[in-house]
Amino acid sequence: MAKPNLYDLDLPALEALLGTWGEPRYRAKQIWEWLYRHLVTDVAEMTSLPQALRERLAGETRLSIPRVLARQESLDGETRKDLLQFEDGHTVEVVLMRYIERRSACISTQVGCAVGCQFCATGQMGFQRNLTRGEIVAQVLHLARELNAQDQRLTNVVLMGMGEPLLNYNHTLAAIRTLIHPDGFQMGQRRITLSTAGIAPGIRRFADEGVQVNLAVSLHAATDALRDELMPINRKYNLNELFAAISDYLTKTNRRVTLEWVLIDGVNDTFEQAEALAARTEGMLVHVNLIPLNPTAGYPGQPSSDVHIEAFTQILERRHVPFTLRLRRGIDIQAGCGQLRARMV
Ligand code: SAH
Ligand code: SF4
Repeated sequence: MAKPNLYDLDLPALEALLGTWGEPRYRAKQIWEWLYRHLVTDVAEMTSLPQALRERLAGETRLSIPRVLARQESLDGETRKDLLQFEDGHTVEVVLMRYIERRSACISTQVGCAVGCQFCATGQMGFQRNLTRGEIVAQVLHLARELNAQDQRLTNVVLMGMGEPLLNYNHTLAAIRTLIHPDGFQMGQRRITLSTAGIAPGIRRFADEGVQVNLAVSLHAATDALRDELMPINRKYNLNELFAAISDYLTKTNRRVTLEWVLIDGVNDTFEQAEALAARTEGMLVHVNLIPLNPTAGYPGQPSSDVHIEAFTQILERRHVPFTLRLRRGIDIQAGCGQLRARMV
């Protein structure tokens, strides 16, 4: 059997493993402190553990640290993207975004994605495999380590890199639980955002997890005809089903949901779409995030023109739909999801 990756073990599993070695339970928490507080990359650095235990850990477990295969930095130095390689050679992207008061990690949950949204570089490359709990967490630790070396702290995590988190449900939730665990990475729950393309049953299940993590839903179209085309997942879970799941989530959690809307010129920035969006969201505790499209090689769409954005946002204002128009970040380094990997492969 392969040696277990320590990042893949939750506390009870680690306690159980140490139990079979005749070690006291509290050693598991000590190990977690080294992994998720001190962010060590080698068990040899776990100096509060007896030498014999460190040797046994080194011999019978592993610490899977992804390798940086490529890096791109935006001209303003505020956005950086790393291509990380896991043990089996597969690669994913992580993006670090620095704002005045925040430093956000955008991390991946799958290698590739099976959902196949037309405009998305990850969707265009297809699905390779799910990431494990440990591989998802390791991306956060990678960026946190680098920030710590510059005396900075990672403040936010968004699951908006490659992959559909709710189609890798168990590993994603396990990773979130490690990140927010009081003996783990100790990140504030409200500082984490999970973004989904609209897996309705997954949204319902997520509502029952009892976590205070933010939910974003990639909507991008408010009529089934257009959404079927842009996001094939809509043929499986159509807008009625998706909005029923969002309502269910709102009732259960009372937490505002973000709706992501990538502005594609002449496609979803029309009068009809703005009106349909207003009608769909009326009376709901939602906030719309408008983001101009990052063009990708496999899709002819372009970001909306200023004139179209102006017309679209005027309708939202008139209909009292709360929204924020986001600036594109890291456009010069193709910080859109999946775009660095698409260039490298
Ligand atoms: N699979 C999840 C999370 C990863 S994608 C989801 O779809 O929500 C993260 C966000 O990037 C989504 O809102 C997605 O629609 C958006 N996105 C994908 N391709 C993009 C592009 N070319 N330009 C701008 N945003 C894009
Ligand atoms: Fe997958 Fe999200 Fe890209 Fe759609 S937008 S293909 S769900 S990663």
